[in-house]
Amino acid sequence: MYWNTADEIMEKNPDLAIIPVGSIEQHGPHLPVMTDWAVATELGKRVAQKTGAFLLPTLPVSTCREHMGKKGAVWMEPTTFYQMMTDIILSLKTQGFKKVAILQCHGGIFVMTPLVRDLNAKHNPDLMVALIDSCVFFQTLYQEGILETNTELHAGETETSMILAVAPETVHMDRAVDFVPKVPRPYLSYGSIFRASPTGVWGEPSKASAEKGEQIFARSAELAVEEMNKAFSYMEAKEKFNYSDF
Ligand SMILES: [Zn+2]
Repeated sequence: MYWNTADEIMEKNPDLAIIPVGSIEQHGPHLPVMTDWAVATELGKRVAQKTGAFLLPTLPVSTCREHMGKKGAVWMEPTTFYQMMTDIILSLKTQGFKKVAILQCHGGIFVMTPLVRDLNAKHNPDLMVALIDSCVFFQTLYQEGILETNTELHAGETETSMILAVAPETVHMDRAVDFVPKVPRPYLSYGSIFRASPTGVWGEPSKASAEKGEQIFARSAELAVEEMNKAFSYMEAKEKFNYSDF
């Protein structure tokens, strides 16, 4: 964990590192701009506790141009993010970490797929990088009855519940308004979220509660561990294919 000393980390000698990734961006009229960072921080701690991994502090800034239109969003170029993550992960490899799990808690980081693919193609089997996207769990949480809605892309039932669980003093439920846009998600490449949703909400925050938030964190942490174990087992089982370890 990032609150341990270097000697404590040396003694424990984990081969897995976890990098939670958030974003700073608008989350409707009722949630703080730190929402994705706060979610990634809480989920990261829970996943690290279950796995004994070395947990890095959550990276607050990634890519979120789809939230342009109001003040309070911070982004970098996708190529900068790609290079920054490559540098961070290769610094971990130099120190003997064999596995890195990226815990992505913001949907709009589209450069993540080539980043993970390239790192594995270049560094397998010495380094394995798994991408865990917490937004993918929303569907499972809905099927399992933890969520009442499956309309969420942003600031809906799920994210509002999670912030109610970890930072209730920052949530303004009296300002929460449900809104499900008529256009599909890929339209965020044609115009900012405010074109699709005047309030910047994509989902149903009125269904949120702190109790649900706790359930979402608990189940998402289990699903994250399952998913990363599956990904690492798959990569570990590979044999060389002609010239390729990938
Ligand atoms: Zn979010």
